[in-house]
Amino acid sequence: MKAAVYHGPRDIRIEDVAVPEPGPGQLLIEVSRNGICGSDLHTYVGAARGGATMHVPGVVLGHEFAGTVREIGPGVDDITVGTHVAIAPIEWCGQCYACTHSWPQMCRQLGLYGGYRLPLHGGLAPFACVSRRAAFVVPDGLDVNSAALAEPMAVAVHAVRRAPTILGSAVMVLGAGPIGLGVLQAAIASGATTTVVTEISPARRHAAQLLGASAVLDPSVDDVRAALRDLSAPGMDIVFETTANDAALAQGLRALRPRGTLVSVAGWGELARVDMGLAMAKEIDVRFTMTYEPAIDFPATLQMLASGAFDPAVLISDHIPLERLIDNGLEELLHHADQHVKILVDPS
Ligand SMILES: [Zn+2]
Ligand SMILES: [Zn+2]
Repeated sequence: MKAAVYHGPRDIRIEDVAVPEPGPGQLLIEVSRNGICGSDLHTYVGAARGGATMHVPGVVLGHEFAGTVREIGPGVDDITVGTHVAIAPIEWCGQCYACTHSWPQMCRQLGLYGGYRLPLHGGLAPFACVSRRAAFVVPDGLDVNSAALAEPMAVAVHAVRRAPTILGSAVMVLGAGPIGLGVLQAAIASGATTTVVTEISPARRHAAQLLGASAVLDPSVDDVRAALRDLSAPGMDIVFETTANDAALAQGLRALRPRGTLVSVAGWGELARVDMGLAMAKEIDVRFTMTYEPAIDFPATLQMLASGAFDPAVLISDHIPLERLIDNGLEELLHHADQHVKILVDPS
């Protein structure tokens, strides 16, 4: 089968690899779609946190995928061939402090399908083997292609669960990429009364408007401070930071009300500059979020996708075949991210 194999920065090759066979406790998944993530771009250009060594050469990339169970390994008896599943692409040790507290996303030996830290082949291939515990059944009413959105939307669900009560709150989302738009929808579904989104890309601002944000601002042009004064007099209750950008972070801190909460969702490649004096003057609370707790966040996310709380039609901007991954996927997102939300790859 043809798969996207990582060999090094700017060296991802579509090449022949063997179809994997499920070992004990594993499933063979026929991949229907695999989304391209911002972290895949970091891997591609060699800018991932910790350097290129965090990725294992020779491994099939891709960690946002869904598909159909085609074979079942020894010892698995609670799922049948033909079942549609979305993959929570993390592996964990089960024994460290985080694992024994049901927080596998913070496992000391965390690895990701797609080759982050462990040689686990990912979803940019027609077939992938995953642990039974990584596979979550796609509910009726959700098509298996759209289920590839479960992974990034689970990040949004987890961020909203980590935040203070959203019901009745004024919420600001910095950035309207796939994660920011997911946070927006999860906040609306959780009963936010006001939702403000800041984003410099016109296409992503348009998506935020389609998804029902109360206000969508271009921080490079609009007077954000004046707009917020009109919307929420004492300031925002909760700000979600999804940009990994200092200027956006500063804007978020200014927008918060006294004792408001900043929720940091983005993966930062560099140190942030934070106005600690301003944060002190307003007694700002800060919470960080790290991906998701699969057992809680994946079933919730899949139900929200099935019920329409997340809108795949707005979130998915293109479907491309695997052989176009570099030109129409990675390069396209590097140079024209402002025209896209999520690009899904069809590896069949
Ligand atoms: Zn990702
Ligand atoms: Zn662990």
